[in-house]
Amino acid sequence: MFQKILIANRGEIALRVLRACKELGIQTVVVHSTADADAMHVRLADESVCIGPPPSRDSYLNIHQIVAACEITGADAVHPGYGFLSENAKFADILAAHNITFIGPSGDHIRIMGDKIEAKRTAKRLGIPVVPGSDGAVTDEKEAKRIAGEIGYPVIIKASAGGGGRGMKVAHTEADLEVALQTARSEAGAAFGDDAVYIEKYLEKPRHIEVQVFGDGFGRGVHFGERDCSLQRRHQKVWEEAPSPALNAEERARIGGVCAKAIADLGYSGAGTIEFLYENGEFYFIEMNTRLQVEHPVTEAITGIDLVHEQIRVASGGGLSVKQEDIKFNGHAIECRINAEDPRTFTPSPGTITHFHTPGGLGIRVDSGVYSGYKIPPYYDSLIGKLIVHGRNRVECMMRLRRALDEFVVDGIKTTLPLFRDLVGNADIANGDYDIHWLEKYLAKEE
Ligand code: ADP
Repeated sequence: MFQKILIANRGEIALRVLRACKELGIQTVVVHSTADADAMHVRLADESVCIGPPPSRDSYLNIHQIVAACEITGADAVHPGYGFLSENAKFADILAAHNITFIGPSGDHIRIMGDKIEAKRTAKRLGIPVVPGSDGAVTDEKEAKRIAGEIGYPVIIKASAGGGGRGMKVAHTEADLEVALQTARSEAGAAFGDDAVYIEKYLEKPRHIEVQVFGDGFGRGVHFGERDCSLQRRHQKVWEEAPSPALNAEERARIGGVCAKAIADLGYSGAGTIEFLYENGEFYFIEMNTRLQVEHPVTEAITGIDLVHEQIRVASGGGLSVKQEDIKFNGHAIECRINAEDPRTFTPSPGTITHFHTPGGLGIRVDSGVYSGYKIPPYYDSLIGKLIVHGRNRVECMMRLRRALDEFVVDGIKTTLPLFRDLVGNADIANGDYDIHWLEKYLAKEE
């Protein structure tokens, strides 16, 4: 087992990883920017190293400084959290070259999944159902038209190097396609330095359903069920739940089995998430994330398994603590992402939190790095906490969520809490009847 883990992240996820390390009796080092000197993860860590000024590129993305911090403190492993360097293959390779364990998959697996064309090809080869579309990059217009004609309009043009919901264009007719292809290519070139784009069928009313998988490092794969993250705004997840209100036990076991087998065949090690669009009973692979996800606590709530413990165990060569047959699903869980944003316009609302009171009681978990008197710096993303609620079934979970949202107090800044108080009382949400466009339509109506 590791002696000392360096946590290369900030905010709630740095604290989340720190808690797992403490439970496992592992020493912790955190790195931070000058803007985060007062952050909770810095206060609670055994050691901390200031690695640079506020901008992420000079601190949380500064590979040299992070490797130097490992060497100074003698950390033998790095947990990257999510975002920042968590899906940076070069970072994983550099750590390996320094004999420091990257708590995540190999650089090669990160590379494959980071290139969407390569990822889709790999998924298909492993027997994962994919969205119908071009087999690889599309450059000329004629070919684009032929493929679109075959799969039928509307189609979506996506950048191979895309991410974070950027670099996508929808074409409804052949006339649209020409412009969409050109714009998508030039935008992808400018944004990602790679203008490769591909085409796939545009699904009109899908749900976003993702499967949590793990490779144990010995060639075995397991799944921890799915999460439904269909409630999104601008492709950003807002509310996540497990299990999905749309799946039954057979469908869950079927797609879970396909994903677990694929992970084993790939020889993948550590945590991963295979993301699908789901429509009319069919799953369509869109991408795989080779890291821990923001929404992992809903899976922890229904399985009772600490996924960060499992990541650390696997990375240290100790395998998983569970086999597939030990993973049982119990009840229902919902996560609300609480952002420091105006709940109507979603503009960021940094500043000082004058009062912070979190709900408690049975089935309530709050993962947050903030506290009363904490000043939210304006440099990073606006997530200030996650409320995760568990109940024996979805109805009980929703009752408890409503109560927990009433108890939650964040003063001094604007947050998205009022949005969740509206959503929890909505009939479609109560019925689990929503797709990936539901939230944007709802917000447009409210305006
Ligand atoms: P990113 O890596 O940028 O997040 P994804 O491939 O995961 O890109 O897609 C992000 C979102 O875009 C999906 O959650 C979905 O809302 C939408 N999307 C992607 N592909 C399709 C498609 N073929 N049909 C309809 N919507 C899509």
